[in-house]
Amino acid sequence: MRREPFGRTGVLVPVVGQGTWNMERDGRKAAVAALRAGLDAGMSHIDTAEMYGAGRVEELVGEAIVGRREQVFLVSKVLPQNASRAGVLRACESSLRRLRTGWLDGYLLHWPGRHPLAETIAAFEQLTREGKLRAWGVSNFGVEDMERAVAIAGAERVGCNQVLYHLEERSIEHAVLPWCVARGIAVVGYSGSGHFPAPRSRGGKALAAIAAAHGATPRQVALAFLVRAMGLLTIPKAASAAHVVENAAAGELTLSDDEVRRIDAGFPRGPWRGLPTL
Ligand code: NAP
Repeated sequence: MRREPFGRTGVLVPVVGQGTWNMERDGRKAAVAALRAGLDAGMSHIDTAEMYGAGRVEELVGEAIVGRREQVFLVSKVLPQNASRAGVLRACESSLRRLRTGWLDGYLLHWPGRHPLAETIAAFEQLTREGKLRAWGVSNFGVEDMERAVAIAGAERVGCNQVLYHLEERSIEHAVLPWCVARGIAVVGYSGSGHFPAPRSRGGKALAAIAAAHGATPRQVALAFLVRAMGLLTIPKAASAAHVVENAAAGELTLSDDEVRRIDAGFPRGPWRGLPTL
């Protein structure tokens, strides 16, 4: 599995990781087994959040990584309403308890909120000094939000910006993606596999033809496109073991310039409509 740096932290993470949103609905056994299968397949980046299932998903992830913590690049997120300095410290302790670990590899502000960003970042830095975080980052930040974060902390301190990115929603390519990449901040795309084109659409046909040439599946080609350049990571969520195996193999697939151009033509970026979120 190809790896990319998590910002300028010096830590390399697999380009295809594992999301966990809504996993509390999947049945504990299946979800835990899927996450473990993902680790076996090299998808060591696991993304979760205190919000998911109101803490139940973190508990489930904690169960999945028992005995394998050193293998995992574990990321969680704090809700904006908890992102005061004291609130972040409290929220992080709760996440660590649910995840059954002493540290997080990444801790993100889930989206910009009313608490001053400087307070949130001060708490992230304190947790880093205390050995509870290896790195921190943000999510759903546009360029202006990113400029504020970098003005407070320096670009070298911001590990990633996690944003909505799939073939039919490429708006981040207009501004926030190049802005982050130019500063060495990883762009972690979310919801990359849930929105999938109809096979008979122009884009669907392009994916199928490229997939056939590689002996791959259209979904693998789509994921490979989403991580086609330096600094791009993706975190598909899958509770089915077959989906996990399919997604992991996408991390080995390299597309030619011509293939990238064909996918680009099949899924036009469209005009800038503001930062997309769910
Ligand atoms: P997603 O990963 O795009 O889609 C998940 C859905 O796709 C599930 O129904 C899954 O099915 C299916 N799937 C996955 N791999 C598949 C495959 N190979 N073939 C067919 N179907 C497949 O959606 P997402 O959960 O919205 O986004 C991914 C992750 O990003 C989240 O889980 C979360 O960790 C993160 N996220 C972050 C934010 C944020 O605000 N920061 C927002 C949304 C998501 P099964 O589960 O049945 O396998």
